[in-house]
Amino acid sequence: MPTAASHLFKQRVPAALADRDLKAAMDKAQDGFIGKREQAVSQYPGFEALRELGREIKDHTLAHLDFYLDRYERQVQRNGGHVHWARNSNEARTIILDLCKRANARNVTKGKSMVSEEIGLNGALEESGIAVHETDLGEYIIQLAGETPSHIIAPALHKTKAQVSDLFHAKHQRYGFHQRLTEAPALVNEARQVLRRRYLDAEVGITGANFLIAENGSNMIVTNEGNGDLTRTMAKVHIVTAGIEKLVPTLEDATVLLRLLTRSATGQEFSAYTTLSNGPRREEDPDGPDEYHVVLVDNVRTEMLGNEFRSMLRCIRCGACMNHCPVYGAVGGHVYGWVYPGPMGSVLTPLNVGLEEAGDLPNACTLNGRCQSVCPVNIPLPDLLRRLRRRQHETGLDSRYSRAALRLWTALAARPALYRRAMQWGAVAMKRLAGRRGRLRRFPLAGGWTRSRDMPAPAGSTFQTLYTLYKEGRRR
Ligand code: SF4
Repeated sequence: MPTAASHLFKQRVPAALADRDLKAAMDKAQDGFIGKREQAVSQYPGFEALRELGREIKDHTLAHLDFYLDRYERQVQRNGGHVHWARNSNEARTIILDLCKRANARNVTKGKSMVSEEIGLNGALEESGIAVHETDLGEYIIQLAGETPSHIIAPALHKTKAQVSDLFHAKHQRYGFHQRLTEAPALVNEARQVLRRRYLDAEVGITGANFLIAENGSNMIVTNEGNGDLTRTMAKVHIVTAGIEKLVPTLEDATVLLRLLTRSATGQEFSAYTTLSNGPRREEDPDGPDEYHVVLVDNVRTEMLGNEFRSMLRCIRCGACMNHCPVYGAVGGHVYGWVYPGPMGSVLTPLNVGLEEAGDLPNACTLNGRCQSVCPVNIPLPDLLRRLRRRQHETGLDSRYSRAALRLWTALAARPALYRRAMQWGAVAMKRLAGRRGRLRRFPLAGGWTRSRDMPAPAGSTFQTLYTLYKEGRRR
C-alpha cells in the first residue's frame, strides 16, 4: 500500500500561501502554461473533435483492456523483450530490483516516470546500494534538492531560477564547477555536463511510457531534452515502468493522443523528441540495450476499471488540469502530500491511499470546472471529486461539523420558501457585517474562507430574488 502524508494538506496550506518564492514561481509557470495552451488550441481548429476522438480511443481501450494487454505482451515478446506484471508497488519494486541485481547494476539512469514515483522506486534502489541518477532536468533539480516533484510534467515548477542557481552553485562544486551561473542556458549546460558522464556509467536505464502500443509492442516516450533516448539506449538493460492504462490499440491512436498531449501540456505542436522503443538491440542496430523489460503496474487500476472512477483511467498525464486550477496555483504541488497533485491528484490520491488518509483532497476544490474544460480526454474531474465527497459522507469520514451543516442545508433545501428567506437574510446580514469596506474579514462558522484573504460581501440580494424581479419585469 502506498504511503502518503495527504492528511497534512490543511496544515501545509498556510506555509505554502506565505511562501513568496513559491508564489512567484507558480504565477510565472501557470501564466506560461495557460497562454501557450490557449495559443496552440486556437491554432488547431479541429481540437474539440480531436478531444472527442481521444476520449473514444481511451474509452474503447479501457473497455477491452484485457485484450490489448495480452496483445501488447505477445508483441513485446515477439520483439525479444519481457513483460512483468506487478499487482502493487511492492511487487513492482521487487521486480525492478531483481532486474538491476541481475545486471550487477551500481548505477541507474532514469528518465521522468510518475509511476516510478508512485511505487517509491528511488528509495528502494538506493537502499540496495544502487545509485539513481535522474536525467530529466526538472527531476535532476529536485533530486539535488532532496525534494519530490510538485508537478507531473514540470517536477521543479515550484523553484525560481535564483533558487536553481543557488542549488547548482552549492552542489556542483564537487564536480569542479565553481562559478555561480544565473542564466538558464548556462545552468542547463552545466547540468548537461554533469549528467553526460552518468549515461556512460549506468548499467540500467529506466524510463516511463507515454503510450504503450498493442499492435506492435512499442513504447512511446516524449521529452524535450533527449534524456530519455540516452537513458534507454546507452545502458545494457532498459526497463520501462508504466501503469496498465497506458495501452492504446494502434500507432495511429497514439498519434491522436500525442497531438492532444503536447498541446495540452506545453502548448507545443510536437515535443522535441518522440521516441519509440520496441525491444532489445537487433544485430543490425548500431546501438541499444541488450535486454528490454516492461514492468506493468496495476496498483488500484483494475479496481477503478470496475467502479465509478473508470473515466480517471483516461488520463494521459498532461498536467493541464493543475495548470488551470486556482487551488493548485495558490499552494503548489507539495501540499497534496503524494505523487499526483492538482485536480487529477485529488481524485487519484484518495483512491490509492484511502479517503481516511487523503480526505482533505476532494474538498480542496471550488468545483469551478476549469479542469474538465481543458482536459484533453474530457475527464469529469469535478464530478469525480463530488463522488469522493459522497463516499466520504456515506462512510462517515467527513467531520461532525460538515455533517451538521449538510443536515441544515438539506432541511432548508426541502422547504423552498424557507430556503429563499434564509438566503435573503444571510445575504443582507453579510452585507451589514461587511460595512463600508464591502469585504468580510471574518466569516462566522466558516473561518477558513477568510483566513488568507477578505471575502467580498454579497450585493444584498440573492440571485434568485433578482431573477424573480427580472421575470416579473420589475428589474432590468
Ligand atoms: S486529468 Fe486530464 S488534464 Fe489532468 S493530467 Fe489527466 S489528462 Fe491531463
